Amino acid sequence: MIRNPIKWPNNARCACAITFDMDADSLIHISKPADSHNRLYPISMGKYGPEVAVPRILDTYKRLGLKQSFFVPGWCIEQYPAAVEAMLAGGHEVGHHGYLHEDPTRHPHSEQIEWFDKAMEAHARVGNSPKGYRAPVYNITQGVIDLLIERGFDYDSSLMGDDIPYMMDTDQGSLVEVPVHWGTDDWPPFAHYEEIGYMMPVKAPSVGLGAFFEEFDAHYTAGGFWHCIWHPFLTGRLARWHQVEQWLEKILSSHDVWFATLGEINAHIREQASQAESVIRRDKLPYYETPPSVIAKKEIS
Ligand SMILES: [Zn+2]
Repeated sequence: MIRNPIKWPNNARCACAITFDMDADSLIHISKPADSHNRLYPISMGKYGPEVAVPRILDTYKRLGLKQSFFVPGWCIEQYPAAVEAMLAGGHEVGHHGYLHEDPTRHPHSEQIEWFDKAMEAHARVGNSPKGYRAPVYNITQGVIDLLIERGFDYDSSLMGDDIPYMMDTDQGSLVEVPVHWGTDDWPPFAHYEEIGYMMPVKAPSVGLGAFFEEFDAHYTAGGFWHCIWHPFLTGRLARWHQVEQWLEKILSSHDVWFATLGEINAHIREQASQAESVIRRDKLPYYETPPSVIAKKEIS
């Protein structure tokens, strides 16, 4: 069970968020820059996200009255402005997800800042001012945490330190962490992408989604937070989304749930954390300043 269950708005039993990372074809360009422009199959697989899946997902959200969060790399905003404008027009949140899906651990910090700001410019061009961030491949670094605080961001959604949202404090300030988990990420069950090193056995829709729905059952029982991290080109495919739609209809009509954007969840956590008897957990960063000393000694000897 959860030791510090959060009181959700309207006494809902469980908070819920489906977040979609619309990476489109940024993945092939960042991983195979020499000839990605001529690799048409992975480009088409990525383009399916903004061009086919996002309109389908937005239709469902509109019909069910849901407002949810998307995370979109800046380059994808430039390539597919209509998809992002439709998200914003539907009242959804669009968060920061790098510029070309660059992994923060693979670039010097000065370069990372350039990517970060280039992405901010892309958001600004569609009238968006993101306050939430998710690192590509979850690979956030302490430097990016510090940058988010410096740039006035409210929350991060890249870490896995709890089942429910918590606060992260540094000497410079605080962020809300809206945690993720591989168990509710659609990459392991549904991605098959040899070009970027994933040779996964693709699961049947009911099997892959079934794992996510079991996660929901546990969170609903414990009064927790069910958070899925999906990709339009994976879970937005026809058969998978058909099952998600049916499941959402059932849950919304029979369960006491609060579906919200991560921005709304962030605001609720901050409000709860400000109360005198708050149950919101606080984590302190940085975790470590250096590698464990035993490693440093080995490298010297
Ligand atoms: Zn991504």
